[in-house]
Amino acid sequence: MMQVVVDLFSAAQGWLFETVVQPLVFQLDLGEYVEEAFTGTEWFLVGVCELAILFVILRPLEAMIPVHAITDKRARWNDFIYTALHRLGAFSILVFFLLDPLLASLTELLHLEGWGSFNLDDLWPGVTDQPLVSFLIYLVVLDFCDYWYHRAQHGWRWLWALHSLHHSQENMNLWSDDRNHVLDDLLRDVLMGVVAIGIGVQPGEYVLLVSASRMLQSLQHANVRIHFGRLGEYLLVSPRFHRMHHAIGIGHESHGKNSLGGHNFAVLFPIWDVLFRTTHFGQGFAMTGVRDQLPPPAGKGRNYGRGFWAQQWLGLKRIVEFTRRSTR
Ligand SMILES: [Zn+2]
Ligand SMILES: [Zn+2]
Repeated sequence: MMQVVVDLFSAAQGWLFETVVQPLVFQLDLGEYVEEAFTGTEWFLVGVCELAILFVILRPLEAMIPVHAITDKRARWNDFIYTALHRLGAFSILVFFLLDPLLASLTELLHLEGWGSFNLDDLWPGVTDQPLVSFLIYLVVLDFCDYWYHRAQHGWRWLWALHSLHHSQENMNLWSDDRNHVLDDLLRDVLMGVVAIGIGVQPGEYVLLVSASRMLQSLQHANVRIHFGRLGEYLLVSPRFHRMHHAIGIGHESHGKNSLGGHNFAVLFPIWDVLFRTTHFGQGFAMTGVRDQLPPPAGKGRNYGRGFWAQQWLGLKRIVEFTRRSTR
């Protein structure tokens, strides 16, 4: 069964590349990037599959067991644009023509310095080099980095200026995972790419690791009353666990002695929150948003923008505002 899926996927990738992508690449006089374009085609198709699976599974669930009624359909549509852009369109192209060559030269440099030949799956021959075991090890290591990047997104003012866009969604839905500032996304992708190269992840594996992580993150943001039970909540981040992170007053605000503040930063595995004492296993399904966007007196009525361009522009303006405030 798995082999059939793999064969079908390769056939589709080959067809799309030969009939559309390759002619276009040569037409645009970008022949030197033909290899990147082939990998780009793979990322694009993986994105198409993700969107189809998410829509077929999560949309009916959102209709059956929603946390809240959708009060703002435009906000949901806007999140879909982010997802399409990030997983199918401009962003992958950007990553592949900018990031891929950058990472390739970095790998070359590391190899020259005698680095980069390190492979985490060589640790215990016969065990850690089993495909499923090495996949899980890579997933855990990358998720550990994701946890700390997420902590930084809340702890550093200039990064929070960007990440608050993600939190400003009061109508969380299956597309909200990608509602991010493009600068924030680019930074995270560079960081993850460098770590992946550093621990010896192969490009083919990386696509699958990213895809698995993205699918689970879409589920976490869906407007569904789902949790994974007493034990399950410790093993994998559920929609309820992540919603708590988005909750005003609990998830992402300062609390007493924990200077960074906030709870449930884990991206896939709650174990990081357990280890670093940032869990909040609340039972309810909280309402979401950022306090300063609430109308006064509770908040300041801050506007995070309605459409894509307004949201991106306001994010840049917040960097100036927040960093100026911190140096005062
Ligand atoms: Zn966050
Ligand atoms: Zn989130």
